[in-house]
Amino acid sequence: MRHRRHLPFRLPLLAIFAAAAIALVSACASGATATPSGSQAAKLEVAASFYPLEYLARRVGGDRVTVRTLVPVGVEPHDWEPTARDIVDLRAADLLVYNGLGFEEWVDRAMESIGADGPVALDASANIRAREEARAPEEAEDDHADDHADDHADDHGPVDPHVWLDPIRYGEQAEAIAAALSELDPANAGVYESNLHDLLRDLTALDTEFSRGLTGCQRQVIVTAHDAFGYLVERYGLEELSIAGIAPDAEPSPARLAVLADQVRAAGVKYVFFEELVSARLARTLAEEVGARTLVLNPIEGLTAGQAAAGEDYFTLMRQNLTNLRLALECT
Ligand SMILES: [Zn+2]
Repeated sequence: MRHRRHLPFRLPLLAIFAAAAIALVSACASGATATPSGSQAAKLEVAASFYPLEYLARRVGGDRVTVRTLVPVGVEPHDWEPTARDIVDLRAADLLVYNGLGFEEWVDRAMESIGADGPVALDASANIRAREEARAPEEAEDDHADDHADDHADDHGPVDPHVWLDPIRYGEQAEAIAAALSELDPANAGVYESNLHDLLRDLTALDTEFSRGLTGCQRQVIVTAHDAFGYLVERYGLEELSIAGIAPDAEPSPARLAVLADQVRAAGVKYVFFEELVSARLARTLAEEVGARTLVLNPIEGLTAGQAAAGEDYFTLMRQNLTNLRLALECT
């Protein structure tokens, strides 16, 4: 059952280099034309489920891979489903990189329909310590009524899939991708390892900027459009109140909104954050009700067409997030 091949493990660094060395030796021994770095070989075709995974695949794969992203620019990915055409394209890929933690509910179905000819599927979060969502009881009941897919809602909240908003966990996803690429293409393992090293250095620098930038702030509570920033607030000692649940379309009841407005007032919040790929209607309503202003906080689930054209990426958007967080939290 090749279509169930997932790569949840991380290859030790040594194994990656050992594999690369063996590939080199066998190439020499067989008298093959010298392509020591494998640079003449065809590029790996990587399918990424949505933007954060696309960015990692591009950075780690560099010029050794071509990356195609399933969720198009400007589309909010939580409810996205592949078309028949997407499935045909996916069949041609060598590797499918997806976020996991329940974000892409279509993956198992898609891989099953593709069957044995399909790509290797990598759950980039397989080794990541995930956080479960705490939910208001009335919200859980709402979900229960209309969400047949979530059979585990009785026992605990849903697992939070938004790991990429924590630069450290995002780096762990990058490591998983580097290991998968190196296993599929051992001749270029050194390239992937070097690209990973550069990316991890950048992510560490970003983490340091957030740690320093969010120290000494007047406030700790952020109010967001949907519950996407749990990993970020956990990492930097903040607290999140969100209007919608884990998925942006899970709209709260009027009763829940009233409770939220009270919490927001009590916390002295001056800005309500909204995001660009979903309607800002509820954020504006809440902001008006509590006398706050609105400001963007980007969950980086996708780029808008304008952001893509302007060359924005994960790092530029995270730094804009930091600027707006510092404004809202009155950091000095
Ligand atoms: Zn989300």
